[in-house]
Amino acid sequence: MHEDLVRWFLQHQRLLPWRTGYHPYHVWISEVMLQQTQVSTVLPYYERFLTTLPSIETLAAADEHQVLSLWSGLGYYSRARNLQAAAKIIIEKHQGVIPDDYEALRSLPGVGPYMAGAIMSIAFNKPHAIVDGNVRRVLSRIYGWNGENTRQLWEAAEELVHKAEPRAINQALMELGATVCSFKAPRCLLCPVQQKCVAFLTGMQESLPRVKKRQETVRVLLFAVVQRNRSGKVLMRQEKGLWEFPMFSELPAGAFAMAGTCRHTITHHRLEVKVYTGNLEKANGLEWKEFGAVPASSLTKKIFTTAAAEISAQPTSVMSAGP
Ligand code: SF4
Repeated sequence: MHEDLVRWFLQHQRLLPWRTGYHPYHVWISEVMLQQTQVSTVLPYYERFLTTLPSIETLAAADEHQVLSLWSGLGYYSRARNLQAAAKIIIEKHQGVIPDDYEALRSLPGVGPYMAGAIMSIAFNKPHAIVDGNVRRVLSRIYGWNGENTRQLWEAAEELVHKAEPRAINQALMELGATVCSFKAPRCLLCPVQQKCVAFLTGMQESLPRVKKRQETVRVLLFAVVQRNRSGKVLMRQEKGLWEFPMFSELPAGAFAMAGTCRHTITHHRLEVKVYTGNLEKANGLEWKEFGAVPASSLTKKIFTTAAAEISAQPTSVMSAGP
């Protein structure tokens, strides 16, 4: 089976920039970005990140503000902070060279068993297994497994990675899951292991593996205030390195105009944000910032866009006279 998978991968793999040369720094950045995020979303971020911070040295020496700005919109910002913290450790402890040692990688911030296995196998071509959502689905279907069997999955991945070229077999499993063995309507007719796949042979493709019960969606109503001064700066606060507009569970005291509503989903939270422009009565902990010059999340950008039309139409009487 491993031979079928590797052959298929070598013929059908997508041409992705981190697959050119498999430079460890490139593989590492791509794997961190690809956690929780699709390839098509990652590509422009990856290109921009590598153009601005092309090496471990430049990443370690960069301003956190710059790293977060490059990450702005990708979400899960702790990934970017961990990446930079790990780069600093690599400079200090490993002479700026990403270690090709599993335990040394695991000791870096943000590097768990999956990430260490991915770097070891894809960047260094060493036999370390990886099990992500795609690999779990592919292996569960091939072997006809239904339940919560994390250990069994890792053991199966471990066995495979010792039978074939590690870089190729691990990517083959991930690529098959991403492009052929999809969650819904897998394209089994194009699959290289169709005749060895228990799910296909028993017609169970779409019911294996059993889907984990999703956390229930929580709806949250918030009120955001965008206040602008005469020079066009807006009042913002800093939260874990990112800048955001003040948000409240109910509309605070002040003089406001409703600008609109925006919606945003963070994991299982569905946020509905009522956006107001105007002046807050109390602006404790807020600073005047030029929007666009500070790192901001996708939600903050949505709030700004929602407020933008209202802000430009705002009479100067409701604007603050701040600096
Ligand atoms: Fe997935 Fe179908 Fe291939 Fe089985 S035959 S691994 S279900 S694509």
